[in-house]
Amino acid sequence: MSQTDVLGWLFVASFIVMMVCALIAFIRSLFVRRTIVAPARQLRHCHWCRNETDLFCKAEIAPGRTCEAPVCYRHRTARGEHDYCPRHAMPAPPPTAFRELARKSRLQ
Ligand SMILES: [Zn+2]
Ligand SMILES: [Zn+2]
Repeated sequence: MSQTDVLGWLFVASFIVMMVCALIAFIRSLFVRRTIVAPARQLRHCHWCRNETDLFCKAEIAPGRTCEAPVCYRHRTARGEHDYCPRHAMPAPPPTAFRELARKSRLQ
């Protein structure tokens, strides 16, 4: 077997491997269940009572991040132009208030 023969066989072998890989990928794509992309519906179920709603909690839980929990008309708390979920309806007291309280309790 000459060197060119070996190279030729190597080429054929690599070609076959490539084709088999492509075939496997193709067959797998046939069997993999196609994920049907649902149309983006802004209607969700309330986190507290499962009623359908299109309101979301806009409480800021981190800088630049809002809660976004779906909340219905019954469970929302409207404050200003935003809605808040029951968990975030009560504004957290600022840390200075706690410090003030601790200072006062120490003085007494
Ligand atoms: Zn609800
Ligand atoms: Zn919330």
